Amino acid sequence: MKGLVFDIRSFSVHDGPGIRTTVFLKGCPLQCSWCHNPESQRCMTETVRKVRKLGNEPFETTETLGSYLDASQVLSRFQADKPFFEESNGGITISGGEPLMQPAFSLFLLKASKEMGIHTAFDTSGYAGQEVFKNVAHAADLVLFDLKLADDMQHQHFTGQSNQVIKENLFGLRESGKRFFIRIPLIPEVTDTQYNLDGLYRIMEELGTLERIDLLPFHHLGKRKYERLGRSFDFEHTAPYERARSERIKAFFKPLANLVSIGG
Ligand code: SF4
Repeated sequence: MKGLVFDIRSFSVHDGPGIRTTVFLKGCPLQCSWCHNPESQRCMTETVRKVRKLGNEPFETTETLGSYLDASQVLSRFQADKPFFEESNGGITISGGEPLMQPAFSLFLLKASKEMGIHTAFDTSGYAGQEVFKNVAHAADLVLFDLKLADDMQHQHFTGQSNQVIKENLFGLRESGKRFFIRIPLIPEVTDTQYNLDGLYRIMEELGTLERIDLLPFHHLGKRKYERLGRSFDFEHTAPYERARSERIKAFFKPLANLVSIGG
């Protein structure tokens, strides 16, 4: 079985507990204006131009983003990294883009990893039909559930899609008893307004006490990726996120969870 993958990263410490190997699947139904992985959004390979140097001479070349990998290629990478998982209580994480865009491939990787005795995490926006979400995301040991905007109109405006099905999947996850962490991107004047923080607070309060909330402050690492793709980046001139601001939001959400962390 093949899947469209745009990256595999070993030694990740921000995609779930311990040391992890994260596979990033290409394709996402959302179009978040702040997305720091814009190369993950299209569910197809893309060719971008790249300037390299030979000595002092610049020359232009091309690079293909994304490749169709056989599941066995991904699993052998997991197998090679397994000693690090065992040392750190880590495992593998399936991320994106939105991995639920490739449900059969995601499910295959989750099941095969479990058979290999590896802990599995699944990083998702929650935007998928309820059956798909249940069959695939629930197959992981841990779900990393991204929550962005509480107001549906704002969600549609900034991500291109309604948050209705996301909320339904989140409450379904809670009812199932499956282990999950909430992840909230802190995007200046978008997700971090008091209006949105209050809305997210109400949603999470309804879920009951949470194990963990990860706050993911805005950064500029995606900026060059937009340049390479020839796309404009709405947040090009936005300043890096201030630590004090993250700390204030952390304190605000503190009553909701056993642990609120900054940076995942
Ligand atoms: S859900 Fe994630 S990957 Fe998809 S567009 Fe939004 S930030 Fe990017």
